[in-house]
Amino acid sequence: MKDNVCLDKDTEPPDEETEPPGKDPCLSSIPPIISASSSVTLTSLLFPDSKKNHRTGPRHEHSGARFTISPRSEAFRKKFFPEVSISDWNDWHWQLGNRIRTREMLSRILRLSKSELGALLNRRTPLPVSVTPYYAGLLDADNPLQALRRTVIPVESECMHARGEDDDPLNEEKDSPVPGLVHRYPDRVLFLVTDFCSTYCRYCTRSRMVGKRSEDCLSRGNWEPALRYIEKNAQIRDVLLSGGDPLTLSNHRLEWLLSRLRRISHVELIRIGTKVPVVLPQRITPALTRMLKRYHPLWMSIHFTHPDELTPETRHACGRLADAGIPLGSQTVLLAGVNDDVEIMKRLVHGLLQLRVKPYYLYQCDPISGSFHFRTPVQTGLDIIRGLRGHTTGYAVPTYVIDAPGGGGKIPLLPEYVAGREGDSLILTNYEGKAFRYPDCGGSGAGN
Ligand code: SF4
Repeated sequence: MKDNVCLDKDTEPPDEETEPPGKDPCLSSIPPIISASSSVTLTSLLFPDSKKNHRTGPRHEHSGARFTISPRSEAFRKKFFPEVSISDWNDWHWQLGNRIRTREMLSRILRLSKSELGALLNRRTPLPVSVTPYYAGLLDADNPLQALRRTVIPVESECMHARGEDDDPLNEEKDSPVPGLVHRYPDRVLFLVTDFCSTYCRYCTRSRMVGKRSEDCLSRGNWEPALRYIEKNAQIRDVLLSGGDPLTLSNHRLEWLLSRLRRISHVELIRIGTKVPVVLPQRITPALTRMLKRYHPLWMSIHFTHPDELTPETRHACGRLADAGIPLGSQTVLLAGVNDDVEIMKRLVHGLLQLRVKPYYLYQCDPISGSFHFRTPVQTGLDIIRGLRGHTTGYAVPTYVIDAPGGGGKIPLLPEYVAGREGDSLILTNYEGKAFRYPDCGGSGAGN
């Protein structure tokens, strides 16, 4: 296999307005690394399009120099992209145009383990590989077991298929009346508006379709059948935009979609599911939040995984969204060796509240193909909830759910707090394990 073969089947961002000009980085020939004393800079060799993949002009708004850059990101930028200005670094178009997608590029930034190299060579991984330069700066170069690194760099286990795993474990295709729409619950739909993500999570439930230009997940301009379905079904009051990541769409395209949905009188609520504030926080520009504000009530579910993601950049992005009046919730997938620990989860949920993000769901990892190394026993999730409930602010405690394989929907799980019944009394245990008796003998509620 060629050294710089691109692992990302979806080599284009989803929309011509977000695509910076220049060659596809995957197809670029990357010369061998040279000594730092050479007159040719390291960046231009490692990331030959890092300066080209940038567009200026009237439609090109970005966070620019006014956006936060943390000391860690700044050190990473200086080391690997010294020719790139802070303003360009903070430009989400630049970040998208310079995603790290090849084994060659990864190996310059990370000391790849045998298992990571094996997976990158194998190419049987169901998902493309892509990491924004910003998020790559959060990865530990020397430790393949670092939590964030495990979530975005494939390992050989990803190529294995364990018992009970499936490419579509939630059977979304069964509940898809038109391409790109999942209608499982009566009053709400999941609208898969793009198959593109800036950074691909190795445990993605939709790895069968994201980054693949799949028929089941809509690509640009192909939203009409789904919109018509929503228009015709008056019981749909809630539309969740997902994918792929809807916030990788341009403002123009996203606004077209939001305005179109807002014209449907029975659609009360629009939600956006995204990981962009975590992996591409520079995308949360003032122009984006000004536009989103026009489509309230608009809620946002942000995909956080680990407290190391709570950076100054992400804080800035979430602050902009919260200031725009968008209620923010976090959806976290429980992952072995990443966040399957009460103290890690406590740091995450405490940090989220400070960012004005409510920890909303803790998901048991879906049994997608190649996910065995990520999945924990259900008891681990129950123990985490028990370690949070009563031990911290109630707002900080997410609902732990299993999305039932086969398409049964989300089923909440709670540790057992009811110890039994004695006569008319319910015996309950509190967060400290102490037993309490509740007189469960209320009347009819008539009052006399
Ligand atoms: S951001 Fe969401 S859709 Fe994209 S790869 Fe991650 S889990 Fe999948």
